[in-house]
Amino acid sequence: MSHKVTLIPGDGIGPEVTQAARLVAEATGVSFEWEVVEAGEAAIQRSGTPLPDEVLQSVQRNRLALKGPITTPIGSGFRSVNVALRQQLDLYASVRPARAIAGEGTRFPATDLIVVREATEGLYSGVEHWVDRDHSAAETVNIVTRKASDRIVRFAFELARREKRRRVTAVHKANIMKTTGALFQTAFRAIASQYPDVASDERLIDNMCMQLVKKPEEYDVIITTNLMGDILSDLCAGLAGGLGVAPGALYGDTLAVFEPVHGSAPKYAGQDKADPVAEILCLELLLRHIGQREAADRVFRAVWETVAEKKVVTYDLALPGYTAHPVPASSCSAMAKEIARKVPLVDLSKPLPRPVAPSAAPIDAALIT
Ligand code: NAD
Repeated sequence: MSHKVTLIPGDGIGPEVTQAARLVAEATGVSFEWEVVEAGEAAIQRSGTPLPDEVLQSVQRNRLALKGPITTPIGSGFRSVNVALRQQLDLYASVRPARAIAGEGTRFPATDLIVVREATEGLYSGVEHWVDRDHSAAETVNIVTRKASDRIVRFAFELARREKRRRVTAVHKANIMKTTGALFQTAFRAIASQYPDVASDERLIDNMCMQLVKKPEEYDVIITTNLMGDILSDLCAGLAGGLGVAPGALYGDTLAVFEPVHGSAPKYAGQDKADPVAEILCLELLLRHIGQREAADRVFRAVWETVAEKKVVTYDLALPGYTAHPVPASSCSAMAKEIARKVPLVDLSKPLPRPVAPSAAPIDAALIT
């Protein structure tokens, strides 16, 4: 059976990294039929709008999409295509795993977190205006509903239970945001009580940022609102090795769209330089979603071994400043070819070496005074 998937190459480095993911998809032996549709700058040139109806219709028809990043003008211009896609298709759950890969490009080799972010409301609701004619004051409305909070919190607990995760941590600012923050907190406590088998706790966003950069290995599933989730998922991507290796998924009740955490990185567009791993790991998440577990495991293992071997890796995993052991940098397409080559060859019977957190190492008795 062939899986029909909408493919949105996107802007900037998007076409290069989605091409890389397609190459790896071919190596898995799983049959895909890609329905390629344009959104973003390419769509504006062709049809005058960054999000043509055919894109939405294609995702609704296929219920499955692999997406590259799409550029959003800053400050003015059209509203974000990414936000519009999430709102119009009700893709309410943004799931961003932050897994350190082979201990490369990270100071926290044991990082293995999942950020679950509400993706349809909050400060992304698009309700904002200038308060006066001089544009000297402005207001952006933070809309948080009990319905959306309940369903995203339930989603996080279901994910934790399914993936045998030990803990769900809610992140909010309910001490300052006495309505929106408190509403989200109330929803979290009510739903958490229905999952006694999954541990749960809460952190204020400021404390959470500090805790994460000190001891990320202590956290597991993080659930939060839209803007806080956006910021935390980039922070967690950094902990796990950088934007180049951070995949993401957007889920609605029936649809799933897989897109990397990173943006279109315009300065690297067309240079065959960007790291293809984030988009390739989006393919891995897509394979898991359609029940192709072995193929997904092969893709993850092939990525892991390519990164660990460090013979064919892009600049962000190769060069001084990014890694403790620099090597010559390879191109995006070369790294994708190497991962694809490994997919059918990897040995899944060997357990993956899981690095231990530095804090978990035994303490030298001489240092204790
Ligand atoms: P960005 O993620 O594009 O880039 C941030 C930094 O990371 C840059 O230094 C970039 O070169 C580097 N980087 C990103 N992806 C990389 C990769 N695969 N390999 C190696 N290095 C990589 O973020 P930005 O510069 O803030 O945003 C650029 C554009 O992307 C903006 O228009 C923004 O709105 C858009 N964006 C889109 C999405 C999306 O489509 N979901 C997400 C984030 C940003």
